[in-house]
Amino acid sequence: MYTRCIVCASPFEPNEELGHLPNGKRLAFDPGRGRLWVVCRTCRRWSLTPIEDRWEALEELEKLTTDKAHLLSQTDNIALLRHGGLEVVRVGRAELSEEAWWRYGRELASRRQTWQTLGFAGTLAAGAVLVGSWATGGLTFFGAWLIMGHGSETVRDGARWLRFGSTAWQGEGRCERCGAVQDAITYRDRAGLGLFPSENPGEIDLVARCTRCGTYRDGGLRLRGQEAEHTLRRVLAYHHFAGASERRVMSATRLIQEAGSPKDLTRIVVKDGRRLGDLQRTGGIALEIATNEASEQQLLELELAELEAHWKREEELASIIDGELTPMPMLETLRRRVTRGG
Ligand SMILES: [Zn+2]
Ligand SMILES: [Zn+2]
Repeated sequence: MYTRCIVCASPFEPNEELGHLPNGKRLAFDPGRGRLWVVCRTCRRWSLTPIEDRWEALEELEKLTTDKAHLLSQTDNIALLRHGGLEVVRVGRAELSEEAWWRYGRELASRRQTWQTLGFAGTLAAGAVLVGSWATGGLTFFGAWLIMGHGSETVRDGARWLRFGSTAWQGEGRCERCGAVQDAITYRDRAGLGLFPSENPGEIDLVARCTRCGTYRDGGLRLRGQEAEHTLRRVLAYHHFAGASERRVMSATRLIQEAGSPKDLTRIVVKDGRRLGDLQRTGGIALEIATNEASEQQLLELELAELEAHWKREEELASIIDGELTPMPMLETLRRRVTRGG
């Protein structure tokens, strides 16, 4: 097996996932044609592994991607999968049940754990005040307030403020009806934010009610496109700072599954216009997962297009190298072993 890129000689990083292919963190393989490449992170070229030690690694890789890896995204020709520190490009469509939005669901579940820990830290702080005031014989106003049950909430609010600040959006905006200047959207006013379907299908316009004329539906401060998307993602993350239980995340992802895609879910949740404060909790969580998923999906699609172009070029080379240097029966045996006779 190669330990360095055959094009630029950069060393391949070791991985812990594959016994038969210990070098390389990004791999590409084609179970149908029996090809296996290590992808260089420096020059991005693909090194075709020598055919004589390919088949065991191919079998291992096929098993790993079928049983354990998460599908990130796919085109008609290639799929991008991840398992641990390993990124795998698999030629041919992957038949996997787990969809990519589970990743963000897990983030919400782990946020919940952090939130619970923060509450515990607040309770501890209150306990410390109690012990301290008993020792010194005095109780400060702040100490008394903490003990009166505000401990956990204070620590949580503080952590939230540290992470988000107080404004979700700042800029130069005006009410689209009366022209009143609106230069900020605060998290405090989030419940009143309007979510409206955009002219571009699957996108959302975010509308803050005008503080002067009070309009909303046909006026107010209206954010569109990326600006709306980024602000909405921030507001939803703030809104769901406490995270969500695993059960809630499961119901939310089921909603997305039933809708068909993150974009469809967004369309269904927002309908012809909703206030953020009127969203039901599961719908809100699903919307947060969907908005994050849609933006990550755009990046993945760009990456996939690039990978697909690489694959086409490398496959041309591989067919020449394997064809010229390898007697056909050996290649056929290899193909059969990997596809189990298919
Ligand atoms: Zn290289
Ligand atoms: Zn106005």
